[in-house]
Amino acid sequence: MSETSTANIGVVGLAVMGSNLARNLASREGNTVAVYNRSPERTRLLTGEHPEAGFVASETIEDFVASLQKPRTAIIMVQAGRGTDAVIEALTALFEPGDIIVDGGNADFHDTIRREKAVSATGVNFVGAGISGGEEGALKGPSIMPGGSVEAYKTLGPILESIAAVVDGVPCVTHVGTDGAGHFVKMIHNGIEYADMQLIAEAYDLLRKVGGHSPAAIADVFTEWNSGDLESYLIEITAEVLRQVDAATGKPFVDIVLDEAGSKGTGVWTVQNALDLGVPVGGIAEAVFARAVSSHPEQRVPFRAIVDARPEIAVVGHTFQDDVRQALYASKVVAYAQGFDAIIAGAEKYGWNVDKGAIATIWRGGCIIRAQFLNRIVDAYANDPSIPTLLVDPYFAKAVADGEAAWRRIVSTAALSGIPVPGFASALSYFDSLASERLPAALVQGQRDFFGAHTYKRVDRPGTFHTLWSGDRSEVESAGSSH
Ligand code: NAP
Repeated sequence: MSETSTANIGVVGLAVMGSNLARNLASREGNTVAVYNRSPERTRLLTGEHPEAGFVASETIEDFVASLQKPRTAIIMVQAGRGTDAVIEALTALFEPGDIIVDGGNADFHDTIRREKAVSATGVNFVGAGISGGEEGALKGPSIMPGGSVEAYKTLGPILESIAAVVDGVPCVTHVGTDGAGHFVKMIHNGIEYADMQLIAEAYDLLRKVGGHSPAAIADVFTEWNSGDLESYLIEITAEVLRQVDAATGKPFVDIVLDEAGSKGTGVWTVQNALDLGVPVGGIAEAVFARAVSSHPEQRVPFRAIVDARPEIAVVGHTFQDDVRQALYASKVVAYAQGFDAIIAGAEKYGWNVDKGAIATIWRGGCIIRAQFLNRIVDAYANDPSIPTLLVDPYFAKAVADGEAAWRRIVSTAALSGIPVPGFASALSYFDSLASERLPAALVQGQRDFFGAHTYKRVDRPGTFHTLWSGDRSEVESAGSSH
């Protein structure tokens, strides 16, 4: 090891996330942090503004690598996609077997699987780590979801634990599973975040349009809810956004913002992958679609012009506000249950041994969906790790059952009043689908058999069957599958 190899950890990519993560690392005892950025100006800016961090700065990647103690460990925080590939390639060429490359960017987990395969073939460890919490999390303590090998985690784990958020003395980081597991779970986290935000937005819309409350009054409602079951970062910031007044107009901030929601793609990835896995994540999908609907003014404006009259807002009683709270909680339980179903299906497909309780544990702090509620998920998986859906856990089953009547009142009130509640309604339909003795899927199977001879199974005896629809309509036993 060269005399200049003084850093135990390095960061490549010093835009907002990398700079903040490097500062976070440097602030923890025992860490000496090497930093490098493609454009040296960023490196100079960071080291100039933060002399207290004692960064070991390099202006070439060779010097950066030389400044790292073995096993060399470097966290890449560069633009996802080609930028990440370029840096991985450069580091792999200079690193030695046993060294560790960590991609902390928002990579597609398929890319992470591909990269891990290619890099580990050289003997260098590659870890795809989902890092949640945005700029502030990176600086003060994110939730970290690393994948990669167990061997790499032995070196990396203590470093990541030193910078992660801490809840009840437990750092918000766990080795999620091998290769792309960390980025997969980060993707699901973001999908759940979409669903949670949409449900909160629907609750706001109902309180405003049906309840007739002002944004400031609704802010107070959310603040109150934040001291109960719904306590979470998203409820807390919702109250803050609703309380904000636009300085230029004096109007509520929420009224001067264009109602067209954007997205960066991780919600879409979650839904695409859930479709591939055959896992119903209606809450997440409806949230993605709700943003898409909002972002098409070229459809909304002409349609609104031809709609004659909107329904009158339904008259509601004094329980309305609490009904909304209960509908929100029940829908949220469904959204999280669906998200964990996607994690279970992904783990099975890609061969990851994911500890669901540990995932809920590391989401309690540092990330956007942090909430007390996650402790209930930890408990549910502790009670029964192989529970078929969180909805049969006694706590969640009771939570949903207790809210069921309110949930139905809210979804019907919204429908009667012409207020879109795709999140609430889809969650309730999912609940009713699971609760139904018989589903019309039987008829769908009949239709499939009619036009495509896709076959069906019978309720009264084993086997696979086909009806000769274009013949004498008698039934024959089939060797094929009915799925
Ligand atoms: P960013 O804007 O995504 O990327 C800018 C950084 O990437 C700069 O350091 C840039 O170097 C570097 N870069 C781009 N192409 C490169 C290439 N071909 N070779 C070498 N370096 C290259 O930065 P960010 O917002 O800090 O995010 C970093 C990563 O964290 C991303 O993957 C992002 O998705 C993820 N992330 C971001 C957030 C967030 O809230 N922003 C949250 C979680 C995760 P130059 O200075 O030389 O251009």
